[in-house]
Amino acid sequence: MEWTGEWTGGCLCGRVRYRANESPRWASYCHCGMCRKVSGAPFMGFVEFPGGDVEWLGEEARRYESSQGVIRRFCGTCGSSLTFEADGMVFIALGSLDHPEQVTVERHAYAASRLPGLMFVDDLPDFPGPVGGKGGRPID
Ligand SMILES: [Zn+2]
Ligand SMILES: [Zn+2]
Repeated sequence: MEWTGEWTGGCLCGRVRYRANESPRWASYCHCGMCRKVSGAPFMGFVEFPGGDVEWLGEEARRYESSQGVIRRFCGTCGSSLTFEADGMVFIALGSLDHPEQVTVERHAYAASRLPGLMFVDDLPDFPGPVGGKGGRPID
């Protein structure tokens, strides 16, 4: 998929801002329990920037190592979740983009952990665990 657009965004209070200087590779929803905790929402969406070419503007985001080698950035003032970062890739939290409507989400990750009763009518493939860097196979 070829995505064009301006990939800017930031937190709720506006103190932390970013601009990605590359095109995203893909986007997914994540239903894992850690994303639920970090966002306070039933699931998160992420847009993957494979080269990690994200420029930070404004105030510096705070960083939390949620697993070994995984950094999640968030605004130290308003608490907005901004990224999941691992292996040189930056996954921008979909809802933090200025224009999330320009993203086409392609799959559900950690679908095995999806909350009961949360229904989607998107016909996207479900992956039981992670997708992307570490692979994974859709649930049949
Ligand atoms: Zn903020
Ligand atoms: Zn997750």
